[in-house]
This record gives sequence, C-alpha cells and structure tokens, in this order.
Amino acid sequence: MPEIIIKLAFNGMKLTEKPCTHLDMIKMVEPATDVCADCVASDTKWPALRMCLTCGYTGCCDTSINKHAKTHAEETGHALFRSIVPDESWAWCYEDHAFLGSHHLKNR
Ligand SMILES: [Zn+2]
Ligand SMILES: [Zn+2]
Ligand SMILES: [Zn+2]
Repeated sequence: MPEIIIKLAFNGMKLTEKPCTHLDMIKMVEPATDVCADCVASDTKWPALRMCLTCGYTGCCDTSINKHAKTHAEETGHALFRSIVPDESWAWCYEDHAFLGSHHLKNR
C-alpha cells in the first residue's frame, strides 16, 4: 500500500495516513450544509466544521466549546468525519484516531 501524506491546512502539519477499519461506513461525502445547526440553535459560534461520512450530520470541531461532531460520534457510533474547511480534504476516525487522505472522499 503506498504511503499517503496528508497536509493539514490549519497548521501545515504533514501526517501519514493510518489504517482505519470503518471505511465501509462511508455513505456520503458532500456536506449538505455549511453551519453547525446545533450551534445555531443555541446561538454560539464554531471555529470549523466536520461532517459525518455515514449520515451527513454536520457539527462543530473538537476545538469548538460545544464539540457537536464528537458528541454525534459518541452518541451514534459513527466514527468517520471529514473536514469541510476549504482547502482541507481529510477525514478523521474517532475510533482509530486516524487521519485519512482525500482519496476516501471521492463521490460514491
Ligand atoms: Zn476507523
Ligand atoms: Zn456546534
Ligand atoms: Zn452520523
């Protein structure tokens, strides 16, 4: 398997892709919204958004005070999220603590 390097736009870090056992949970890759609906409902702001690759839920990232994406992962068992920040196209697995490259985010 070729090594895949993921470059993170937010801090310029380069990471090597790690194995993930949840790739068959990827059902959708295109975000349907560009807000965290739960933050909008409680009138709070978020720094960045993550989208659940299983059901399409979009929530704020782990540096947000509300961590709605993480809450969604814990409540549903949906492990895989993608960044939907422009210029960032990586996914994160909450179960394997693995970054995944953009080749997993092709339309399917
Ligand atoms: Zn995984
Ligand atoms: Zn939120
Ligand atoms: Zn989900």
